[in-house]
Amino acid sequence: QAKELGRNTFCFHSAALTSRVNDHLQLEMRLHRALERGELLLHYQPLVGLEPGQPIRAEALLRWQPPDEAMVPPARFIPLAEETGLIVPIGDWVLRAACRQAKAWLDAGLHFGGVSVNLSVRQFRQKDIVDEVADVLAATGLPARYLELEITESALMEGVERAVATLDALRRLGVSLAIDDFGTGYSSLAYLKRLPLDKLKIDQSFVRGLPDDGNDHAIVTATIAMARSLGFSTVAEGVETEAQLEVLRKLGCSAYQGYLFSPPLAPDAFARHALLLVAG
Ligand code: C2E
Ligand code: MG
Ligand code: MG
Ligand code: MG
Repeated sequence: QAKELGRNTFCFHSAALTSRVNDHLQLEMRLHRALERGELLLHYQPLVGLEPGQPIRAEALLRWQPPDEAMVPPARFIPLAEETGLIVPIGDWVLRAACRQAKAWLDAGLHFGGVSVNLSVRQFRQKDIVDEVADVLAATGLPARYLELEITESALMEGVERAVATLDALRRLGVSLAIDDFGTGYSSLAYLKRLPLDKLKIDQSFVRGLPDDGNDHAIVTATIAMARSLGFSTVAEGVETEAQLEVLRKLGCSAYQGYLFSPPLAPDAFARHALLLVAG
C-alpha cells in the first residue's frame, strides 16, 4: 500500500513538473516572439529632485503587452529573460528605445533631466557593453550626460576588478551610473568606496517603514549619510506618502520616485503630466 502511494505521489510530482517546464518553455517562446512583434514597450516613472529648480528625470521600465491579453509585469519575465540570455537583445532594445525617447523630449524643448535605464547582470557583463552604449548614443544622438545606467549590487560585487574597469569605461563615455535597490544585496563597503558611481538608489523596502519604523529610519539615515560622504547622490524609491517624503527631505536625500508623485506612465502621459505641467 505504501508502495502504491509512493508511485502515485511520484506521478503527481512528475505531472506537475512537466507542466511547469512546459509553462516555462511556452513563456520563453512567447517572449521571443514578443520582441520580434513589437509587443514590448516602455513606461517612464518621474524622478523628482528635492532641491528646487531641478528638471524631472525618467526611469524607463519595461512592459510586455501581448495582443488581447493582460500586461505581463517585469517580475514575471525578466528573471526568465536573464536565465535564457534573451535579456541581451531585449536590454539592447530597451536602451535604444529609451535613448530615442529622451532625445525626442529634448528636441521638443521640454525641461527634461535625462533617462535612467536598468541594466541586468548579464548585460552588464557582456564583453561589448561599453561599445553597445557608445553605439546607441551615436545612433540616437542623445548627449551622454542625459543617460544614466542603473546596476544592481550583485552585478557589481562579483568580480569587482572587472566591474570597476567597465564602470570607468562607461563613465569616460560621459554617462552617469547608479547602484539600484541598494541595501537588498551584499554590498561590501570596502568595494563600494572603490566603485566610480554617481548615485545610490535606496530600496523601497527601507522607505516603506518611514517614518515610524525605527530600524528603517536608522538604515535610511545611515545610507544617506554614507552616500554623501562617498560623494554619491541619493534617490529614494517607492515613496508613497507625504510623511515619508518629509523624513527624506530632512535627511538630505537628493531625489525621490514613487506613487506619491506618479506611477510609471506611458510616454505621452509622462510628457504631459511630468514635463509640461512642472515646466509650466
Ligand atoms: P526597479 O528598477 O527597482 O524599479 C522600480 C520598481 O518599483 C518599478 O516596478 C516601479 O513600478 C515600482 N514602483 C515605483 N514607485 C513605487 C511605489 O511608490 N510603490 C511601489 N510599491 N512600487 C513602486 P516594475 O516596473 O514592476 O519593475 C520591477 C523591476 O523590474 C525593476 O525594479 C527592475 O529591476 C526590473 N526592470 C524593469 N524594467 C527593466 C529593464 O528594462 N531591464 C532590466 N534589466 N530590468 C528591468
Ligand atoms: Mg531601477
Ligand atoms: Mg530600484
Ligand atoms: Mg526596487
